[in-house]
Amino acid sequence: MKNPKFLEHLNHVLQDFSPDQHLLIVSKTRTLDEIRAYYDIGHRHFGENRVQELLLKSNELKVSCPEIKWHMIGHLQSNKVKDLFKVHSLKAIHSVDSIHLLDELIKNEHRLNHRVGVFLQFNTSREEEKSGFESRPELDVAIARFNDCQNLYLQGLMTMGALRVDDQMKSALACFRELRGLKAELDQKWGLDLQLSMGMSQDYKIALAEGANWLRLGTMMFDISGD
Ligand SMILES: *Cc1c(COP(=O)(O)O)cnc(C)c1O
Repeated sequence: MKNPKFLEHLNHVLQDFSPDQHLLIVSKTRTLDEIRAYYDIGHRHFGENRVQELLLKSNELKVSCPEIKWHMIGHLQSNKVKDLFKVHSLKAIHSVDSIHLLDELIKNEHRLNHRVGVFLQFNTSREEEKSGFESRPELDVAIARFNDCQNLYLQGLMTMGALRVDDQMKSALACFRELRGLKAELDQKWGLDLQLSMGMSQDYKIALAEGANWLRLGTMMFDISGD
């Protein structure tokens, strides 16, 4: 069923996107019907932050949404990797935040029968409750790990803007700029063209301006009644 309200909203949001910028609709806590509402108007990429919820939803929607592409965006525990790899339409993991987790993913990649993109999460805000790599040398170690991968491939870098600061927008700008700078350095050193996963509902316009490739939007895609 096509919902004109969602279609109008989607088109409105996508107006600001350039061809190499992609919308990832974050559907955590949302119902299957809400996801289907966007699927039915042509959207394909959805993100979840918990493995169990992702596995459940991907199974439930397998038949009615055969072309759906799932992205894992939340903190991933090593002991959940096997469950995550059961998600048949898993497209990418945006939240690979340590060498330990990356090694666990690589150890299990034989369970996949298709390629899955990996984003290395970098803690640009240095907030303690946020996970992620914290230095350039750590990223270099992680990047070298992909040499022997069959199904996992390095797709890009991910970050989140700071939350507990007085000027969130200014801080988000600094975080996104830092990630963009890292991309430039790493691209040159390793001969890559890393994509950038950055920007949430409140700061996505800044992320768009800073060259984000994947915008992870939840709240603003679903709470649209007052528009
Ligand atoms: C929830 C979440 C988002 C989306 O946040 P909104 O503010 O709802 O747009 C993006 N990225 C991650 C990692 C999330 O957990």
